[in-house]
Amino acid sequence: MIKDKVVIITGASSGIGEATAKLLAGQGAKVVLGARRAERLAQIAAEITAAGGQAAFREMDVTLQSDNDQIVQLAHDRFGGVDVTFLNAGLMPNSMLSALKTDDWHQMVDVNVKGVLNGVAAVLPTFMRQKSGQIIATSSVAGLKAYPGGAVYGGTKWFLRDFMEVLRMESAMEGTNIRTANIYPAAINTELLSTIRDPGIAQTMQGLYDKYGIAPERIASVVAFAIDQPEDTTINEFTVGPANQPW
Ligand code: NDP
Repeated sequence: MIKDKVVIITGASSGIGEATAKLLAGQGAKVVLGARRAERLAQIAAEITAAGGQAAFREMDVTLQSDNDQIVQLAHDRFGGVDVTFLNAGLMPNSMLSALKTDDWHQMVDVNVKGVLNGVAAVLPTFMRQKSGQIIATSSVAGLKAYPGGAVYGGTKWFLRDFMEVLRMESAMEGTNIRTANIYPAAINTELLSTIRDPGIAQTMQGLYDKYGIAPERIASVVAFAIDQPEDTTINEFTVGPANQPW
């Protein structure tokens, strides 16, 4: 059931997060949107409201634990609780290791790994108390396959494979009934490539996306499918991408 569920979405200001917010709100979810670009969030929330849906938003940086705590608080204050959190914020400034873009390495770890840890830490007390909840994360096919230029990005996404599986196992052992879903998208047309600062890698990736990329709504529908399963059912992993993309 999606209707009336309260769903927090990080990275909701564009791409996969925005598409998911609109799809879920259209199916009756109450969505709580977080990202750094507050004006984009305001616009998306206004569009959802104009279409008859319910949305709240908060400017947040997922690298800060306090921002993650406050968006959970916003969900409680506006909609009376949290049923699902979609930890989707991420960036991909790929480069060869030899370029030593260490600031980018650290930023990817801070957002793609620590951002998820912060999001889980913020919501777990609620989910443990109510003995239900769902945590969905956006990994990547880069979390399943290694490729040159993607050592650190891929590492952050491989991390999610382990983390989400252990979260699922521990929740089952402890009887907290927290459902998990980890999504591994391939080429999806969003703003993600704008985070690549290396011109050569940016051009190669753009060529790949121009050839194969599909719309973020495809991922949104998978998130909706995961949420819509009966409460006793976890579908833990989805690999989703263009039918014609060979890698
Ligand atoms: P976008 O660039 O369109 O979206 C990324 C989102 O993350 C934006 O809303 C951005 O918002 C947010 N974000 C980035 N840094 C932070 C931060 N510090 N705090 C809060 N929010 C942040 O790209 P996608 O929609 O493609 O990316 C969504 C997820 O999908 C990412 O985790 C990405 O790694 C993953 N993914 C994407 C694929 C693709 O082909 N597009 C393939 C595989 C995985 P703002 O800048 O406003 O903060």
